[in-house]
Amino acid sequence: MSLPYRCYGTMDARGRWRSWRFAPDADEVRLVAEAAKPGHALFASVQRFTAPRGAAGVMRWRQVRDQYVGNDALPHIAPLYFDVDCDGDLDRALSWARWLVEHLVEQLDLPESAVRVWFSGSKGAHILVASEALGIKADPSLTGDMKSIITELIAHLAAEGAPGLTVDGSVYSLPRLLRVPDQFHRGSGLFKVELSHRELFQCSAEETMELAKAPRGGLWTPTDLPVVPMPKAADWWSAALERTRRPRQFRIATARIAGLKVRPDGYVVDELVDAATPDCIASILDATVEPGARNRCELQIACWSKAARQPFREALDQLAAWTARNRSELSSIHARAKAESILRSVYGRSSYGFSCAAARSAARATGRGPPCDGCRAVRPRSYRQVFSLRLRHDPQWSVPYRVSLEVSRGSIARDVDGRVHAGRPDRPGHRPAGNRQDLFRPDRPGRRRAPGRLRRPDARAGRPDPGRPRGPGRQHAPLASGARREG
Ligand SMILES: [Zn+2]
Repeated sequence: MSLPYRCYGTMDARGRWRSWRFAPDADEVRLVAEAAKPGHALFASVQRFTAPRGAAGVMRWRQVRDQYVGNDALPHIAPLYFDVDCDGDLDRALSWARWLVEHLVEQLDLPESAVRVWFSGSKGAHILVASEALGIKADPSLTGDMKSIITELIAHLAAEGAPGLTVDGSVYSLPRLLRVPDQFHRGSGLFKVELSHRELFQCSAEETMELAKAPRGGLWTPTDLPVVPMPKAADWWSAALERTRRPRQFRIATARIAGLKVRPDGYVVDELVDAATPDCIASILDATVEPGARNRCELQIACWSKAARQPFREALDQLAAWTARNRSELSSIHARAKAESILRSVYGRSSYGFSCAAARSAARATGRGPPCDGCRAVRPRSYRQVFSLRLRHDPQWSVPYRVSLEVSRGSIARDVDGRVHAGRPDRPGHRPAGNRQDLFRPDRPGRRRAPGRLRRPDARAGRPDPGRPRGPGRQHAPLASGARREG
């Protein structure tokens, strides 16, 4: 697949952005030359894109943006990237970068040329792992998938003892512009320069800044760079990708079968019964939100306004007030302009819709996590279609079926008996082997029974249970009750 396009941005000597351009490789030289004016700096998207439909040459990003997000988006590709920045603490950023690089090289057997590191020119580091080495393939949802994979990786490293390692999830957006190597950083007076692993591990913050006083060029020639997947790294990537994609694909497939409208991220678009403000949105409206979560909150408010059929003016007044309050750096005129541009996007595109799950997720990011009973949405009518789909997707699942009251009473009585005789009523899972007499549910290794309510008597013998998730996340219980209602 040919992926010749990137998004480019130029920052002028006064720190202002020129509008982002979208250009194929062939035009890069020209853009670099344009940005070569004193004090200017060129940024390029870490992602590369397939050619847009119905356009060619250099264009504005906003002209083609819609083709790369939302439903039927065109694919993009990117190296696995980390933008390590610790609130201006370069020492700490370098130490985090060392953790990441060590993990990638030691655990995934990646060569140094596949894990390239740059000092960002100010207070951080950029680490890019070659897509070729990991076997990353172009996909419309790649950047979003990368965010989940990196969140998982960081949690793993933190559990291994990486001190305070966190990652800024907001850098996994489309497009993500990074300063081009050897470009000047106006704030620090330094350049973004590539570091060898030796330099990364041995140089202090001062020594690193010393290296960045002039451009250094790349440390590798094109022939040094990986062109094929490295087995261990590629296995890790494909397994991590599968873990990330499966739940979303399942949500999407389930929703489609059940006749629900679903957004590209897999959230079901709720059709609201009325326009009363639900708890999930109310808590965002009241919140004072940190910079990292403001965009998504604004988006959720706008999506809800649209779903609740608020007139544009009214929605704008509401969102502009929120934006002005939470973005104190903006004047009220600029806050209103920002709110208006968000609302225009949301009202103008069918791929934006309100989802309580997405709104609650944004509310959690503000530090509030309301259980939302207020979303009176149209719920799916048929669970039966969902069952049939689940049967095909999930080998560990079987359709719940009815049980008569009499049979269930008998089963409960035997269960109670078993516990009393075992003498351990506080540990329902613990029963001596001789007491396993429940004919409805042959005992399975590692399986705890839900105390009190018998939801799913399963008389099928010999079905192995490789240990399904339990606790509040048990997935079959609500479906079982749905089945009874239906029948
Ligand atoms: Zn809600």
